[in-house]
Amino acid sequence: MSQHTRHILCMSGGKDSTALALYMRDRVKEIEYVFCDTDKELTETYEYLNRVEAFLGKKIVRLNDRAGFDHWLDVFGGYLPSPQMRWCTRLLKLKPFEEYVGDEPVISYVGLRADEDRVGYISTKPNIKAVFPFKEDGIDYAGVMKILEDSGIGMPPYLKWGRTHSGCYFCFFQRSIEWVRLLETHPEQFEAAEKYEKVSADGKSFTWNERFSLSELRKPENVAEIKRRYAESEEQRKANKRNKRLIHVLGAMDDEDDEPKACLICQL
Ligand code: SF4
Repeated sequence: MSQHTRHILCMSGGKDSTALALYMRDRVKEIEYVFCDTDKELTETYEYLNRVEAFLGKKIVRLNDRAGFDHWLDVFGGYLPSPQMRWCTRLLKLKPFEEYVGDEPVISYVGLRADEDRVGYISTKPNIKAVFPFKEDGIDYAGVMKILEDSGIGMPPYLKWGRTHSGCYFCFFQRSIEWVRLLETHPEQFEAAEKYEKVSADGKSFTWNERFSLSELRKPENVAEIKRRYAESEEQRKANKRNKRLIHVLGAMDDEDDEPKACLICQL
């Protein structure tokens, strides 16, 4: 007897996986939606997912309900995760997803767009087959925006204040300017992130940002410096983009959502 195949879409609270959930809603009736909750996501992400859930008319299963980030931080003896030691992605995103999937045949829907050449999460579990409907159907950044706008759901609200991706409010992949925006928009979450930082007895410091501890970063002179440098780099980026347009003239991809290209499972 052939085994039943499950259809699962792992959402991050980001625009691409949300648009894919909306896109697949009427195409694959038996699809299951899941969200690997670290318990430290942006406030807006939780609200956004609630709205999406109502629109989908189906539960988004929240994983990790018993062991979020703080549990694993204890297990790791207070070692904050970092780009070099990403235990958070492994234990709070990949592992719970694979456990939820189990051993039955599964088709996993991944929200990589047609205009991206990033590599998405592809499980090495032999029973999981990843598929990329946006790539197959030629849906690019503009297509994703259209799906979100047409549904009335719109883009994730954190984009309005300049955070570029979903994931934990203290994510170490965010740029200094995003920390400044978090400080100005959600001072309570900035403060909560700050409380995780410490200097150990042997003088080793645990900070989210490589350049500054958050208590340094929040100082007015550093905030002003970060804003100044960001404005300069934006000017430079726009000039480069104009040059690129002149070179390519036709057919060039518009890099409108210039996001950090890390931790896809948290950010798609
Ligand atoms: S969003 Fe950042 S901090 Fe959170 S699990 Fe992903 S990589 Fe880790």
